[in-house]
Amino acid sequence: MRIPNIIGWARRLVWLAIVAFALLVAFAWVKPGREDMPWTPLSLSEPIGMSTARKIAALGDDRDQCLALLATSGLEFTPSEPFGADQCRVENAVRAQSGQPLLPLAPASVAPSCPMATGLLIWQTQVVQPEAQEILGAKVRQIETFGSYSCRRMYGRSEGAWSEHATANALDVSGFLLADGRRISVLRDWFGGDEKALFLKRVRDGACELFSTTLSPDYNAAHADHLHLDLADRGAMGWRACR
Ligand SMILES: [Zn+2]
Repeated sequence: MRIPNIIGWARRLVWLAIVAFALLVAFAWVKPGREDMPWTPLSLSEPIGMSTARKIAALGDDRDQCLALLATSGLEFTPSEPFGADQCRVENAVRAQSGQPLLPLAPASVAPSCPMATGLLIWQTQVVQPEAQEILGAKVRQIETFGSYSCRRMYGRSEGAWSEHATANALDVSGFLLADGRRISVLRDWFGGDEKALFLKRVRDGACELFSTTLSPDYNAAHADHLHLDLADRGAMGWRACR
């Protein structure tokens, strides 16, 4: 009969206790909420947490679930008919009906994918409006864009990876119009060093918590006049690019 290796087992138990204790300390330190848990369903009203971006990106897999979630915003969204072909096929674009200030995208014709609209809604209510109020003392009346859908490869090249714009899974934000008539422009104000520049950097940083990709003028000259936001699918790990 083999004699059980008691010292080996005791060592393993001690390690297990140390790991369990470390996890407990980490848990108490971070105090995760439901927004941090990868298995809880996304809600529009919960604060932005560690798992929010992954949950928004995962909405791309389920059109009906995404539309149902958008409906909880109280906003009227019109799902658009599928359009485009092959790599540029869009099945899940939505348009916020005009006259609704909850997601004031301009031009009104812009129709991002349902997951993008969800991310933009959270960005707008939890990042853009609070930062505008705090830094600029006014509400944002309009988020000005260069549009969402564009059937092309990245950087408009003739070969290589397709852009997230090809499936309306991206949006280029060029500026913001405030309720008091002031206009914040990415091109003009990014490097200005004043409160407009601070506002732009804060909304960029906030977008980094929500979107798979957030690119700003800090990244390269191709982004000198807009913030590029997209929901590229980066798998289970869901790493994010934030520049
Ligand atoms: Zn873009």
